[in-house]
Amino acid sequence: MKETALKTLVAGLALLVFLSLSARRAARVFPIRPGVAVAITEGEIPAGGALYNELLRDISVNESLQVSRALGEIYNIRRIRPGDAYSIYHTTDGVVLKFIFDPDPMINYVLERSSEGLAGYEEIPEFEERTVLLKGVIESSLYAGLAGSEITDPATIMRFADIFQWQMDFLTEVRAGDQFKLVFTKFYVDNKPVKYGRILVAEYSGKRGNYQAVNFQDRDYPDYYDLDGNSLRKQFLRAPLEYKRISSHFSRTRMHPIHRVVRPHLGIDYAAPSGTPVSALGDGRVTFVGWRGGYGNTVRIRHNQTYTSQYGHLRGFARGLKVGQTVRQGELIGYVGMTGTATGPHLDFRFEVNGVPVNFLTQNLPSAENISAANLSSFKERVLEVREYLDLLEDDFFLANPATIEEFRTYQEELALSQTEL
Ligand SMILES: [Zn+2]
Repeated sequence: MKETALKTLVAGLALLVFLSLSARRAARVFPIRPGVAVAITEGEIPAGGALYNELLRDISVNESLQVSRALGEIYNIRRIRPGDAYSIYHTTDGVVLKFIFDPDPMINYVLERSSEGLAGYEEIPEFEERTVLLKGVIESSLYAGLAGSEITDPATIMRFADIFQWQMDFLTEVRAGDQFKLVFTKFYVDNKPVKYGRILVAEYSGKRGNYQAVNFQDRDYPDYYDLDGNSLRKQFLRAPLEYKRISSHFSRTRMHPIHRVVRPHLGIDYAAPSGTPVSALGDGRVTFVGWRGGYGNTVRIRHNQTYTSQYGHLRGFARGLKVGQTVRQGELIGYVGMTGTATGPHLDFRFEVNGVPVNFLTQNLPSAENISAANLSSFKERVLEVREYLDLLEDDFFLANPATIEEFRTYQEELALSQTEL
């Protein structure tokens, strides 16, 4: 009895100690030589907290500075967020032996002490990438159809809509009863799902039409194609931002809102809240970043011999954006603002063909490049695999049930077994 009571007391105390450290912080101590031990502190950056201040709870100002500096060599300290995990291995006399920063389950940033001080490297934990199949029927919106039963994460839903953005508008053209099929990857560490990967195959069959997409790397980066190898993309986005409305159209005879004179407006004004992200309209090279008179903060991108786009009145630019840099379609280049001559926050967008401003909204935009002849045969092989996936997805096992092919096989075997038992 006495022993049990003691155990309960010890457990209770341990719990108290644990709770006082809070679930976000725990420490263990291992003796290494007489009088000195290594303490391992595991914690998370608290809301409103800074890594440096967290370090000061365990180690000296000098050691904290060393850790911050060494981490800064391999990780952008500004990207540290509340909830990011870390572990400090330090001796009880105050020397940091090792520091692990773990902002993402897929990568650790490790600092280790050597004779030259703390040196850092990136460590990729062992992970497994599994292929997951899923299908569903839309009841109201695409988002509800995919997210209704914790099927997948919002980013995957957005990517699905992005893939088919030139084929249909998922805000207005989705109808109840439309169906989708999805094959995507998911990353596991120690059998625990840690991250969604990319969409490998997507199919949408609805009132608007039937569309299929295959992820395939033909040129510099993977892209989406239909089963015949035609790119699903256009060379340019429909718009370089998510806007509220068009506040001024392309016109050669507009009354200028500030100068009160008739002046052509050779662009489109997209009204959007200040800070709205602005994306590169298409792949290209940045030819201007900076102040450009009445346009204020401006970016210009040359897409190819023919097409150039310009983005004006920006509040600011994407971090590190510079002239000469290549950008990809959809890549962040800046934020909506009202710098220069502007009456309210909006993007002044200009589109030029051979140096001449044209109305972007009435252009017949070229498609992105299709699968190249060099890769056509390997693409066709990929399509055969894709057809197998789509066939498997005919089975209602996958309906609102994301599962791997192995899980499907196990289910089939169990089903066969139960039928023979009957
Ligand atoms: Zn304008």
